[in-house]
Amino acid sequence: MTEPYLGNPQETIAVLQKYDFVFQKKFGQNFLIDTHVLDKIVRAAEITKDDVVLEIGPGIGTLTQYLAYGAKEVIAVEIDKALIPILEDTLSAYDNVTILNEDILKVDINRLVTEKNQGRPIKVVANLPYYITTPIIMNLFENHVPVDSITVMVQKEVADRMQTGPGSKDYGALSLAVQYYAEPYIVANVPQNCFMPRPKIGSAVIRLKRYDRPAVEVKDEKLMFQLIRASFNQRRKTLANGIKNYSGLSFSKETVEQAIESCGFPLTVRGEALTLEDFAKLANALAE
Ligand code: SAM
Repeated sequence: MTEPYLGNPQETIAVLQKYDFVFQKKFGQNFLIDTHVLDKIVRAAEITKDDVVLEIGPGIGTLTQYLAYGAKEVIAVEIDKALIPILEDTLSAYDNVTILNEDILKVDINRLVTEKNQGRPIKVVANLPYYITTPIIMNLFENHVPVDSITVMVQKEVADRMQTGPGSKDYGALSLAVQYYAEPYIVANVPQNCFMPRPKIGSAVIRLKRYDRPAVEVKDEKLMFQLIRASFNQRRKTLANGIKNYSGLSFSKETVEQAIESCGFPLTVRGEALTLEDFAKLANALAE
């Protein structure tokens, strides 16, 4: 199979000029132009010839070439129709790539996995469009898409949020959601000059290895995530007040205070001090 040839500034410029491509800021288009970073992503994702890979936002097909070279099959979902003829050109040497001109947030990924991999877990690999990082990741987890791992380039600050625990300013609902479903690991920080055009913010590659079973046992998953949202919606409030003021929940003051105390937390505790285990404990107490 043809070795990847994209991944450096010269080749990228040549492709962009050939097609008179105009970058669309609204689509978060920052293309990778560094072969070391591309190698690192593919290595961290542990791609093998058994893998079906979903790539979100292939751009001009740079990372796609690396994935197609290493994987059994690649499904690449790109929203910008101006990139489709380019992708058909840069990926013409690979017969294991399907290009879909769709908005990833509107794609039925479960159906895609059933069609392409008989419902067996796939790997997600991408240099994500940063403006929709959280909905992309949350959709994959909340819709229980069969994924083995998600290896993605994200904004540095978002990678930190996914990986951190209580006591950090970055700790929040995203940290807890990610850590409930997967083990996060920051693979590398990536400097701005590895992209064209250069983004204004720092980037990092993060790998989320999905657990066979969620990290904690909880009777009512939905309730736990409502409690998490309630406590981080109003960070400066106590956990009790956060829950009482949250429109999605209708527990009485007494019930909330009793549950908090039954878990052994002081009534003045803030949500940001609670671990995932603590939130599960509280959700289980309130579910009774
Ligand atoms: N993978 C390429 C690379 O690394 O050079 C491009 C990465 S660029 C950061 C993000 C890509 O996602 C762009 O090609 C952009 O057009 C695409 N994109 C943005 N929003 C999207 C959406 N909702 N669904 C699918 N693709 C999207």
